[in-house]
Amino acid sequence: MPARTGAEFLDRLSRNRTHVEIQGETLRGGIADHPAFANVVRTYAALFDLQHAPGSRNILTYPSATTGDPVATSFLIPRTREDLDKRGQAYKLTADASFGMLGRTGDYLNSALMALASAHGWFAQTDPAFADNITRYYEKVREQDLLCTHTLIPPQANRAQPGSQQGGGALMARITDTDDNGIVVRGARMLATIGPFADELLVFPSTVLRGTPEDRPYSFAFAIPTDAKGLRFIAREPFDYGRSHFDHPLGSRFDESDAVVVFDDVHVPYERCFTLGDPEICNGFYTKTDALQHMTHQVVARTTAKTEFILGLTTVLTEAIGIGGFQHVQADLAEIITTLETLRALNRAAEADATPNAYQVITPAWAPLNAARNLYPRLYQRFPEILRKLGASGLMATPTEADVNGPAGPDIDAYLQGATLSGRDRVRLFRLVWDACASAFAGRQALYEYYFFGDPVRMATAYQASYDKEPYAEPVGALLERGY
Ligand SMILES: Cc1cc2nc3c(=O)[nH]c(=O)nc-3n(C[C@H](O)[C@H](O)[C@H](O)COP(=O)(O)OP(=O)(O)OC[C@H]3O[C@@H](n4cnc5c(N)ncnc54)[C@H](O)[C@@H]3O)c2cc1C
Repeated sequence: MPARTGAEFLDRLSRNRTHVEIQGETLRGGIADHPAFANVVRTYAALFDLQHAPGSRNILTYPSATTGDPVATSFLIPRTREDLDKRGQAYKLTADASFGMLGRTGDYLNSALMALASAHGWFAQTDPAFADNITRYYEKVREQDLLCTHTLIPPQANRAQPGSQQGGGALMARITDTDDNGIVVRGARMLATIGPFADELLVFPSTVLRGTPEDRPYSFAFAIPTDAKGLRFIAREPFDYGRSHFDHPLGSRFDESDAVVVFDDVHVPYERCFTLGDPEICNGFYTKTDALQHMTHQVVARTTAKTEFILGLTTVLTEAIGIGGFQHVQADLAEIITTLETLRALNRAAEADATPNAYQVITPAWAPLNAARNLYPRLYQRFPEILRKLGASGLMATPTEADVNGPAGPDIDAYLQGATLSGRDRVRLFRLVWDACASAFAGRQALYEYYFFGDPVRMATAYQASYDKEPYAEPVGALLERGY
């Protein structure tokens, strides 16, 4: 089956019976029509349509190895530099469509599946069946163009204890039983973004597991349909309040939803399991397969698109109220430009220094990507801060569309005009700035970027530990010994 259209994505979603709890309401399907999801689901549908648009289909698709039909480029196994370039272009095109605001577009986890399937031999270490399972699953997702999300971390009950000890071991999703056909999973995982409207849930490893017998029930990787029996999502309050694009320009388009994942004795067939009972395989899941490189390659394209948007928005804002001539405002713009150019340079270095890995997959260089993923969680936090500082009281002089079109219209036009904009257009701009820096949607975006790759503090600890610092320490030691 070729890459799906938006209509095909919506059609399948209308047949899903996903169990979602939201604001006291229980849904069993009907997700696309629920006000919390209707807009973002249509934004996702437009991304599927982009795969068929004349200006983008050649970048976003390639011929399937099994059918020759066009399938999404994020499934393309890069055997040449041109393949890798094409993957990079497709990531950027997809990210541009949402200004980088959507974090779980299909290309993110398609890239992971591509790398995992390419490294299928690694999964055979414990059982050759796992190698077949990951290969078949990758082909299924590719051919049916399914939208995947993932859930990784255990519930946040007591971080001073390993997940396997929390709540007497009953909180974290674990294998409680097995039968001839598969495993039974009970417990919870903390979050799955887009869980309520994804087709598939990848229940993958994340926290480091010890190789002890107690950790074995928690050592697994599998995939299930989001409407699997016994699976339910508890969604957070939506930040799309059902208002117009004028009032909530970002929230009304890009609120992806995040949901707690509960496994109530979910049966997972063996053919959907990629590793079981092997902490060592779980701990090397992303690094030994190089999935991490390809996922990060996608993320850098997305964060570049997002930074471009922030730069554009800040520029329009400074022009609108005539503050572009002040030096500290220029310094803020320079800071955003520096972040943007750093991301571009790191991405370019990663692509330029790409090499074939052990599975003959052209793999972007890890050092620049690792630098980018350690930088962005912190650098992004400055963007809403800058927008809030520059927007100032304008962020609160933000009447709604109803006011602009109502009795207050003449006052708004007279008193809220900007240096370059009418009152109406200035309000429209400031509502966009507010949704990028001060609304609930904006707060969620900042939190999302901070924790995208896990806790940045622990990530930094691992980063510096894995970095070979000796070549730099040695000359310093030699200088000290030389004396003056
Ligand atoms: C908007 C959003 C969307 C998300 N979407 C998904 C998703 O789709 N799928 C998914 O799997 N996950 C998702 N996550 C979860 C994300 O992976 C985690 O937020 C991240 O891994 C950090 O874990 P935590 O939130 O449990 O923080 P915690 O581990 O509970 O940390 C809380 C605080 O305690 C500190 N801390 C805790 N333990 C330690 C320690 N051992 N050493 C040092 N400091 C420590 C941390 O530094 C941090 O400041 C999402 C998170 C957010 C915010």
